[in-house]
Amino acid sequence: MCYCFQVIKLDLKYKVLLCIFIILLLLTGIFLLMNLETEREKEIIYQQILEKQQALKKAWEAEEKNYLMGKFDPSARGDFVPVPEEYNVSGYKTYLRKETLEAFLKMREAASLSGVELNIASATRNFNYQKKLWNDKWSIKDNFDGLEKFKEILEWSAAPGTSRHHFGTDIDINNVNPPYFDSQKGEKEYNWLVTNASQFGFCQTYNLKGNNRPTGYNEEKWHWSYLPLARNFTQEYKDLITEEDIKGFLGDEYVAGQNLINNYVLSINSECL
Ligand SMILES: [Zn+2]
Repeated sequence: MCYCFQVIKLDLKYKVLLCIFIILLLLTGIFLLMNLETEREKEIIYQQILEKQQALKKAWEAEEKNYLMGKFDPSARGDFVPVPEEYNVSGYKTYLRKETLEAFLKMREAASLSGVELNIASATRNFNYQKKLWNDKWSIKDNFDGLEKFKEILEWSAAPGTSRHHFGTDIDINNVNPPYFDSQKGEKEYNWLVTNASQFGFCQTYNLKGNNRPTGYNEEKWHWSYLPLARNFTQEYKDLITEEDIKGFLGDEYVAGQNLINNYVLSINSECL
């Protein structure tokens, strides 16, 4: 009697333990399943965030590429301002990034105290403007073959999409003809700029070609870059634009092999980099 009771008691105890074990097993299973579900949800959310970030980066890059290649209308942008007629000697309405014009005006004021007058002969030229300049030169009848003509135009003009005049940071000051700077007036203006322009953030982009700058455009005493903005755009150009992006104008079949980005866009005065 006493023994039987103990067996039943043990049996019950075993059954209770088994029940507890099964319940614990079930709870653990449910917990693991729920956790797995949460992990899956987390992974999905993470993937969605990643995709959104990539899409935003792509959209930003596409927009930035258009900007760097001048594919925009400066008059329609809030960060560009028209160059006041008083200082504009280009003969047409032209625009600059607000910061560039402000810095130029400060420099102009300082120059006038030294009896030097600084005016803007050219400012922002967008892709379409540069394309017209380029195509007009290309269409002049001459005896050059295609590649020769391409190189000849490049001596003084940037291919559309490769000009720093697209940035809104680069200006041609007073005159774009080299002989002007041999005159007493031109020489005085240039010497003032060489001594003082850096104080206002400006740098002569195309200095004399030589060992330090073996390729690129000839010396331009009139072309100055506003570095606080231009430095960044130069770096972005290097990072984002490829030779395949440079197209859409007469003779663009000769772009391949010219290394326009390294030999022209990035071949500037090392002090401006
Ligand atoms: Zn220029």
